[in-house]
Amino acid sequence: MMLAVLVSLVGGWGLLLFAYRQPLRARWREPVFKQPVLILESDDWGAGPLSQAAALERLRLLLLRHRDGNGQPAVMTLGVVMEIADTQAMARRPGSYVGMDLRAPEYAPLRTVMDAGRRDGVFALQLHGQCHYWPAGLMAAAGRPEVAAWLYGPPYPRTEDLPSPLQSRWTDASELPSREIPPAEVSQAVALETALYQGLFGQTPQVAVPMTFVWNESVEAAWARAGIRCVVTPGRRCTMREADGAPGGIDRIICNGMRAKGDMVYVVRDCYFEPALGHGAKELAAAALRKWQARRPCLVEMHRFNFLDELLMESHLQALDGALREVSGLLPDARFLATETLADIIVRRDAAWVERAFIPRCKAWLMRIRELTRFRKLCLLTGLALPLALLERVL
Ligand SMILES: [Zn+2]
Repeated sequence: MMLAVLVSLVGGWGLLLFAYRQPLRARWREPVFKQPVLILESDDWGAGPLSQAAALERLRLLLLRHRDGNGQPAVMTLGVVMEIADTQAMARRPGSYVGMDLRAPEYAPLRTVMDAGRRDGVFALQLHGQCHYWPAGLMAAAGRPEVAAWLYGPPYPRTEDLPSPLQSRWTDASELPSREIPPAEVSQAVALETALYQGLFGQTPQVAVPMTFVWNESVEAAWARAGIRCVVTPGRRCTMREADGAPGGIDRIICNGMRAKGDMVYVVRDCYFEPALGHGAKELAAAALRKWQARRPCLVEMHRFNFLDELLMESHLQALDGALREVSGLLPDARFLATETLADIIVRRDAAWVERAFIPRCKAWLMRIRELTRFRKLCLLTGLALPLALLERVL
């Protein structure tokens, strides 16, 4: 009788582990970091309001004041957008799209501060995209009053003011649900934008950040062909905009270190620090601590919109300053890295950063699997929680 109970119990555990083998294995394979890592990932910089040059200069000076134990200043990646609608040219010839890119002379101050920040090691440039929309999709929606007002309105517009679905670059959201863009057009667009990036910044982009985190396999294939080695993700791949405009069509759940098309590496960015949305220093420090407890790097999303409004910029800069101090106070060993460097560390499984020993990896795995809420409940229900808790004690 006892034996039968034991066999069915252990059999049940086996079934449970088998059913969850994919997420369990993914968390085992994820790199286990030896030190806390903090990366500020900031998107949307580039084409648009000219005030960005002054904002980036303030950020450059702020970041230089924060150093980690290696003397490395705080790093903010800049997800660069290279083109915006030339609203004045378009108002003269309504109906056809005209873009203005960062080669225009009015963007010289912005390019100068980006270069200065790169030299100082506080800015690391990443490809966000040529423009924060799919031009053909945007033009197909030009009949809508809010889109027309944007297209033919004041110069250097903010793409943040466009209807959210139209801000996706890699799906045609002129009508909802959005439609897939033919792969040949995607391929051509990626070739053009990576060439533009190379011309502007003197190197091919190494890291891509999909706009609004909507992208698909054909975008990845084109990025890989263009030499990109790392894709920043929120931990899942959305491929379209649903009927209500929300990102959807999830076809992949992603962990750090998983491989994308063409052997590019994925990283996960799912911490947020947007002072304009009320995020505070304590929240960022708590997120960094949570990531460190699971031995994961902390990639923090922080958009340019926090720093576009002159009146609010000051308090948002102070909030960032305070948040960096808070993280350093809580995690004095935290290290600042560029995402490009993080990707190299992950790909090489660099022993200086990534744990190879079994016991620390096992501890990190036990911490990580706690986030699988249903699995945790089933563990409690079946009693598997007990041996897992024992294992945690022993290690
Ligand atoms: Zn963006």
